Amino acid sequence: MRDRLRIITQMPEYMKVQEKIIPVLIIGGGPVGLALAGDLGWRGIDCVLIEQTDGSIYQPRMDLVGVRTMEFCRRWGLVPTVEASPYPRDYPQDNIYLTSLTGYELGRERFPGIGQAPPPPVSPQRRERCPQNMFDPILRQFAAAQRSVTMRYRTRLLSFTQAADTVTAEIENAESGARERISARYIIGCDGARSLVRETLGIKMLGNPVLTYTTNVIFRCPHLLSLHDKGKAYRHIFIGPEGTWSTIVAINGNDQWRFSIIGNTAKQDYTTEEIKAAIRRAVGGDFEFEILSVLPWVRRELTAETYCNGRGFIAGDAAHAMSPTGGFGMNTGIGDAVDLSWKLAAALEGWGGDGLLPSYTSERQPIGARNVAEASGNLRRMLSVASHPEITDDTPQGAATRAKVGGEFSEMMRREWFTLGIHLGYRYEASPICWPDGSPPPPDEARHYSPTARPGHRAPHAWLADGRSTLDLFGRGFTLLGFGARPAEAAPLVDAARTRHVPIDFVPLEEPQIAALYARKFALVRPDGHVAWRDDRMPDDPLRLIDVVRGAVTGPGDDAWQERANAAKMA
Ligand SMILES: Cc1cc2nc3c(=O)[nH]c(=O)nc-3n(C[C@H](O)[C@H](O)[C@H](O)COP(=O)(O)OP(=O)(O)OC[C@H]3O[C@@H](n4cnc5c(N)ncnc54)[C@H](O)[C@@H]3O)c2cc1C
Repeated sequence: MRDRLRIITQMPEYMKVQEKIIPVLIIGGGPVGLALAGDLGWRGIDCVLIEQTDGSIYQPRMDLVGVRTMEFCRRWGLVPTVEASPYPRDYPQDNIYLTSLTGYELGRERFPGIGQAPPPPVSPQRRERCPQNMFDPILRQFAAAQRSVTMRYRTRLLSFTQAADTVTAEIENAESGARERISARYIIGCDGARSLVRETLGIKMLGNPVLTYTTNVIFRCPHLLSLHDKGKAYRHIFIGPEGTWSTIVAINGNDQWRFSIIGNTAKQDYTTEEIKAAIRRAVGGDFEFEILSVLPWVRRELTAETYCNGRGFIAGDAAHAMSPTGGFGMNTGIGDAVDLSWKLAAALEGWGGDGLLPSYTSERQPIGARNVAEASGNLRRMLSVASHPEITDDTPQGAATRAKVGGEFSEMMRREWFTLGIHLGYRYEASPICWPDGSPPPPDEARHYSPTARPGHRAPHAWLADGRSTLDLFGRGFTLLGFGARPAEAAPLVDAARTRHVPIDFVPLEEPQIAALYARKFALVRPDGHVAWRDDRMPDDPLRLIDVVRGAVTGPGDDAWQERANAAKMA
């Protein structure tokens, strides 16, 4: 793969050469690039983000901000802004399955307004409904507020080359057409599904490039609710005689709706009249509405074979392209950004070992593949309704079909609506920078999340006596939790970290219920909030442990470790 990088053309001499080498160059100002820039800035790392557009969102895609992403927003101080976004917090979030808005209801999963649902007990945050045209500006403002972040809109990456110590990119200003060369230590492609960074790095996408050709239509109709008797709901899934064929989603909880013709693997171009007819079919009659935008797009099931090559990295849709069924795409991408950010910081600050940045692929690529697969499973379930020609008939047979299809569909779709396990239960199982404790992994289930401080997992949330969450203790450096431990007992590990210039804080905790949750006397939590190590006593070789978690030496493979791991397993 490295060879492929060498054949990229030389930069022409006429271009302006920028003398200063910036630490991190981020390509793409979608939610993932913005989150990465914001988190790097929050760590005080200099970075430049370039985005080819002016940042306006014409077709908001994501709107579900998952619970883990909200935990990151908590860390960044963004929760009040997300909660204050204009999406109405009392708008019911029901998912309804129906033949048309004015037709038969087959089933419904009821959810209260987003502001009326309490956070799950396992998190200090609830998931939020904050569409992309509201969420991106929040992330943009956050990133722009960091002193070490420079954002350049209307600026496009044209190409880049890698050398031993730097990456040199050719970029173009969309307004003036002026080109310049910019050098950076690292380049991060957050440039979406058609990523130029990924292509230039020669990284292949693995999986299925076409699940469906889908057409999304944003339409405005302030009086839609008055046309039918189904009441307010977030998502409507339309099932006709041919099976599931379209959806309507309340994208701003007011006057705008996203209609999707789900389609299949055959490419289809619709005329405006055909689109209008399809919207009328879903609603169940003629009515006044205005089409604001139409976006044909391809639903994919792809994960990159690797997330990095040399000094180039990819994150977000550049690294994984998944069906939106489940609302995992951006949330997975922001997880990528948080994993990569502290590793970049460590590398630039000099305390990260050579294995730290490569561990980004080992940790995040399996999570990308997991979430891509779950999203496709959700799509398959949604489309699994067989053809029922009688489903809209006003006959006893039609009613019986509706009851059967509705019951089965309602049961099956719950897997997509309840996904705490996906958002919180991901773990870095084979991570080279976590120190396993030999305990068996809990099941990885889409619906259920079992809090555990097993190395590789998200360090669990619990409320501290002072009203903070344990999650509020983690972030800028490593945090060594000690349950009922005095600083002197934690000193070997703290001293080892300081010897290697690894930022660390020791936090003694007394709460017995948190000690029980973490299940060991000590737990070392990484800057991204994942557990790196836990044990009831200090490690025999604290420097070795620190060298493993900072990626300077490979993980514990020696006999002594293996013996202890086996003993722990048997216990
Ligand atoms: C209908 C739909 C609903 C969805 N709902 C959800 C949801 O509820 N929750 C969820 O988590 N996900 C959802 N997703 C997925 C989510 O929208 C994406 O995963 C997310 O937008 C990816 O963010 P990103 O920053 O990686 O990429 P993008 O949002 O694609 O941003 C990439 C950016 O890079 C810029 N760029 C590209 N090339 C260059 C270049 N050469 N130079 C400079 N800039 C460049 C682009 O202009 C763009 O702004 C949904 C997707 C769809 C289609």
